[in-house]
Amino acid sequence: MAKDPSPRTAGRRLSLAPGRKLVGVFVLFILLPGAVLGIIALRVLRQEVAISRQRTRENLERRADELGRELEAEFRRCSEAVRSSVSPTSPNQANAFPAVLEEAFAEPGAGVFLAKSGPGLEVHPPGALSYVPASLATSRTEPGRASAGLARAESLELAQKDYRGAIRAYRALIATAGPGEKPGLLHRLARTLRKAGRLDESAAAYEQLSRADPVRIGGLPSDLLARSELCSLAEERDDGAGLADQALAFFVDLTRGTWSLDKPRYLFYADRCRSWLSRSPAAADEFEDLRAMEERKLALSAATEAFLEGPRSVISGDGGAYFAFWHEDPLRAAIISTTFLGSSWWPQALSKLGDDLRAVLTTAGGLAVMGSAPSEPPPFAVTRDLRIDDTAWLIQIWPGRPEAIFADIKQRRALSLAVLGLVAVLIVFGSYATIRIVRRELEIARLRADFVSTVSHEFRSPLTGIRQLSGMLLDGRVTDPAKQRGYYQMIVQESDRLARLVENVLDFSRMEEGRQEYRFETLSPAAWLRKVASDFAAEMAVNGIPVEVSIPEELPPISADGQALGSAVRNLLDNAVKYSPGEKGVWLEAEAEAGGIRISVRDKGVGISESDRRRIFDRFYRAGGELSKRVKGAGLGLSLVRHIVAAHGGTIACESRVGAGSIFTIRLPSAPAIERG
Ligand code: ADP
Repeated sequence: MAKDPSPRTAGRRLSLAPGRKLVGVFVLFILLPGAVLGIIALRVLRQEVAISRQRTRENLERRADELGRELEAEFRRCSEAVRSSVSPTSPNQANAFPAVLEEAFAEPGAGVFLAKSGPGLEVHPPGALSYVPASLATSRTEPGRASAGLARAESLELAQKDYRGAIRAYRALIATAGPGEKPGLLHRLARTLRKAGRLDESAAAYEQLSRADPVRIGGLPSDLLARSELCSLAEERDDGAGLADQALAFFVDLTRGTWSLDKPRYLFYADRCRSWLSRSPAAADEFEDLRAMEERKLALSAATEAFLEGPRSVISGDGGAYFAFWHEDPLRAAIISTTFLGSSWWPQALSKLGDDLRAVLTTAGGLAVMGSAPSEPPPFAVTRDLRIDDTAWLIQIWPGRPEAIFADIKQRRALSLAVLGLVAVLIVFGSYATIRIVRRELEIARLRADFVSTVSHEFRSPLTGIRQLSGMLLDGRVTDPAKQRGYYQMIVQESDRLARLVENVLDFSRMEEGRQEYRFETLSPAAWLRKVASDFAAEMAVNGIPVEVSIPEELPPISADGQALGSAVRNLLDNAVKYSPGEKGVWLEAEAEAGGIRISVRDKGVGISESDRRRIFDRFYRAGGELSKRVKGAGLGLSLVRHIVAAHGGTIACESRVGAGSIFTIRLPSAPAIERG
C-alpha cells in the first residue's frame, strides 16, 4: 500500500502536462485567432459603413456636378437666345427661345421678354406686366381741346347745372362728331345723364363708349373709364348680379394688361374691382384664381421695374426671386420667375439624374432661388460651388429618401453582425466541445494510469495469500486436518478471485477492441440464477456473509450467454458485498415481469450519491468517498455489466440512497417463442 501513491502521482503528472499543452494550443490556435478575427471583422464592419456613407456622398457630388452642368448649359442657352433675339415687335416668330423661356412666357406672371425700342419698351407676351414700369411710363397726348359747341355744353352741365340742356347739346355734338372726338363726348353725355338721374340712359352711353375706339380721357383710356363707370352705376342701382359680372369682366381685362397703365392707376382700379367683387360671393372662386395670377404678375412687374433700374442676374423681391438673362445694348432681357422654374424645370432636371433627389440652388448671398431649402440640414447633404459667367451659386443636394440608405446600411450591419455572431457561437461551441472532449480524455488517461496500479494490487493480494497458505501447508506447519481443509478452501477462493479478475480484464480489453463474442442459447433463468447464487453464497459463507436469494420456481426463458450474464450478476453481487462494510448480507431477487424478467441485487451499504450514479457505469470510474479509496477495484465491473446487459437487449438501472444502500436491477427480455421451441 505504501507504494500506492507513486504511480498515481506519476499518472497525474503525465496527464496534466498534455492538458496544459492542449490548453496552450487551444488558446494559441483557436481563441487568440478567433479574437483577432473578431476585432478585424468589427473594424471591417465599421469601415464598410463608412465606405457606404462615402459612396453615397460621392454619388451625390457627381449628381450635383451633373445638375450644375445642366443648369449652366440651360442658362447659357437662355442668355444666348436673349442676346441674339432680333425682332422686339414679334419676338415669338423671329426669336427661337429655349423651351424653358417659352413655357415661362406662356404662364401668366412667370416670365416676360423686354426689348427697348426707341424711348418705349416692347413687352412680350403683350400684357405680361400688370403695369408699365415707372421709368417708361409716358403721358399720352390728349385729343385736341374743346370746340365752341363743346364749351357751351360743358358750361350748361358744369356751371348752370342744366343737365337736360347739356344732354341735348352733347347729343347734338355726338351726331356730327368725328371718330376721334366721339368718345370724349360720349363720356360727357353719360356723366351728365347720370347726374340727371337717368341711370339707364347713362349706362347705355357708357356701354357705347366702352365699345368705341378708345382714346385717352384725362390720361386714361376711354374704354377703361366706361367699364369702371358701368360697375359704379350697377352699384348705385343696387344691381348685385350685374355688378358681379361687370366687375369680374373688368378685373379680367385689367389683369390681362389690356390697358397699359402706370402703377398707381393700375392699383387704383384693381382695388376698386376688389372692393366690388368682395361684395359678390358668387364670383368668389373665379376671383381667387384671378387674384393669385394678379399677384404673380404684380411681382413680375415689380421685378421688371427693379431690373430696369439696375440690370442684374438675380432680382429678389417680396414675390420671390427672378432670373434675368439680358443683353445691354440695345436692351433685351428675359425675366423669369424662379418659383416657376423651381416647380417646372428644376424637378425635370432633378428627375433626369435618376434617383429620388432633392436639391436647392442658392445665390452666393444665401438666397434660395430654386427648390426649397430644408429647415434643418438633411442627412447626406452635399454642397457644390457653381459659377456661371460671373455669378456664383451653390447647389445643395440630398437624397429624397435617406431612410432607404439608412435601411441599407442597417441591413449590411445586421448581416455582418449575424455572420460575426454565428462565427462567435461556433467558436464558443467548438471550444466548449473541445474542452469537454479533452477533459474527458484526460480523465480517462488518468483513470487508465490508476487502473494499471490498481490492477497490479488486485493481482498481488490473492497471489500473496495463495503463496503464504500453500507455503504453510508445504512446510507441514498446519497439521490439523480441519485447518488444512480451510486453507485449501481459501487457496481455491483466492485463485477464483484471481481468475475472475483476469477474466474481467480480458473481457474489458475484448470489449474495448470490439472483439467480445457472446454465445447465446435459450436459458432457463431460474436454474441458472440459482447456480450463480449458490456459488456466490458458498464463497461468502466462509466469511460469514449471508446471501438472501428469492427466485421463483418458474421464470420465462431468456436467450443469453449464461457465462457472460453470470459474470455480470456476480459483479453486482461482489460490489454489494464490497460496498457494505459492517453490514452483513446481500439480497438477490428475480421476478417475471411483462415481456421478460427482472434481476435485482440489493445491499444495505454506503449507497451512491446522485452525481456518482450518473457515471458509475463509465469505464474506470470509481465514485469518490473514503470507502472507494479503501476498497479494491479497477472501475471496470459496472461498465462490463452494462456492456453485457446491453448485448442481451436488456437494461440496467441503479437506485440508491447514500447511507441506506443500493439496488441494481437488470431487466432482460424473454426469449422469442420460436427460439424456445
Ligand atoms: P469497482 O468496484 O472496481 O470500483 P465498478 O465499476 O464495479 O468498479 O463500480 C464503480 C463504482 O461504483 C465503484 O467504485 C463504487 O464507488 C460504486 N459502486 C458500485 N456498486 C456499488 C454498491 N453496491 N454500493 C455502493 N457503491 C457502489
